[in-house]
Amino acid sequence: MKLPDHKSKIVCTIGPSSRGPNEIREMIRAGMSAARLNFSHGSPAEHAETIRIIREEAARQNRPVPVLADLPGPKIRVGILSGGPIELKKGDDVVLAPSGAAGAGEIPVDYDRLHESVSRGGTIFLDDGRIRLRVLDSAAPRVFCRVVEGGLLQSRKGMNIPGSRLMPAAVTERDFQLIDFALDAGLSIFCVSFVSRSDDIVRVREYARKRGGRVFVIAKIERGEAVRNMREILDAADGIMVARGDLGMEIPIEDVPLVQKELIFEANLRGKPVITATQMLESMTSSIRPTRAEVTDVANAILDGTDAVMLSEETAVGRHPVEAVRIMSRIARKAERRRKDVPALEDIVRRGLEKRKRAAVGEAISLSIMQAIRILRVNYVLAPTHTGSTPRRISRFKPDCWILSFCADERIRLFLSLTCGVFPFPPPSGETDAGASHEEMAVFLKNEGLAGRGDRVVLARMTAPGVPGGLDSMGIITLV
Ligand code: PEP
Repeated sequence: MKLPDHKSKIVCTIGPSSRGPNEIREMIRAGMSAARLNFSHGSPAEHAETIRIIREEAARQNRPVPVLADLPGPKIRVGILSGGPIELKKGDDVVLAPSGAAGAGEIPVDYDRLHESVSRGGTIFLDDGRIRLRVLDSAAPRVFCRVVEGGLLQSRKGMNIPGSRLMPAAVTERDFQLIDFALDAGLSIFCVSFVSRSDDIVRVREYARKRGGRVFVIAKIERGEAVRNMREILDAADGIMVARGDLGMEIPIEDVPLVQKELIFEANLRGKPVITATQMLESMTSSIRPTRAEVTDVANAILDGTDAVMLSEETAVGRHPVEAVRIMSRIARKAERRRKDVPALEDIVRRGLEKRKRAAVGEAISLSIMQAIRILRVNYVLAPTHTGSTPRRISRFKPDCWILSFCADERIRLFLSLTCGVFPFPPPSGETDAGASHEEMAVFLKNEGLAGRGDRVVLARMTAPGVPGGLDSMGIITLV
């Protein structure tokens, strides 16, 4: 078999431009590692069909391609403008009112408590920040604003209220219905929009658990409050997404790059996958070539340690979905080569461990594995796992080699597909236990044509397989 030629993961949003079997097939070939379904759009029937196609194509190409269910959350939107789009001009005064209460000439909004969420002098963004309003006053249920930046406002466009005092809860009734649908469809990775604190993550996980689903929850960091609470959210979540689209309107736009770096660092530190998202190759939505700035943005996110980079409109509604994936994988391949020169996280982890009274054995072993990878220049770490924690612990240092992870649980294998450099396999013997022996794994490597006689590989071992996080020894074998 042939492993992908880049180790960073590429998450592709599937939409009208990419949901056909040909596009999905070509996108997987081009390097798509995971598919994201944005549940803000499309019907359950459409999603069910897309999931079927992705599974079929992934199986045909023998690639572990998870499908991420991205829950819409409480995105505030403009209601239906019965008279069609409205041209808002700089200096105009406008009135916003809940859809049920909006009168003639007022802009309907699908949120009843808007007047409680704004403050006088505050900003409201419409349509991804294209239109900007200043709040003059409010009187329940209306909000009176002046247009600062004008534009053509269409029905259903999104609204952001930076620094809002009150926002709707992150998980809505509709989200819970979508979770039901996704669980029935066998999905187990959920992206939760507009989280503010760790409770938002726990609610989704608990809800799924009561329905018999064991799910992975990815927190989308896109609210100022989530940035302030990033550590507690990261501790509760299984991974995060730097959702730069909404984030760039909820916090000052110039803060986004720094927050992105901090989120990547904090996620790496915990060995949890981080996806950097939105506008990465935005110009490719219409153009066949990205801009230099976009290419540099993708490369920088990878150099900073992101596990995955995400395509949104580029693949969902763009004209060149497959080419966007090809370009992404070319950028990833190049950027990864330089990353091995940046061992910053290892130093930080080592210094942290040295200060502890009783450091965890798995932490010490993961550092030793990194040293062996570098000194012996090995191409593979073999990492059997039950929970996924062993391969993730090694991956956080972003070694320049593959971490082949043998795991019996398909759900965990699919989630591992979001972690940089990890390629998950079922245990070679096909047994239900993940504890494949190193002989088995070595035979597997040779049978698959991945390595040959004389090649050295590192083994991440657990002497008591089955104990979660039980990485307690390592080995180096030379294939015979
Ligand atoms: C974002 O805001 O950057 C994002 C990824 O979320 P969505 O596409 O759901 O708006």
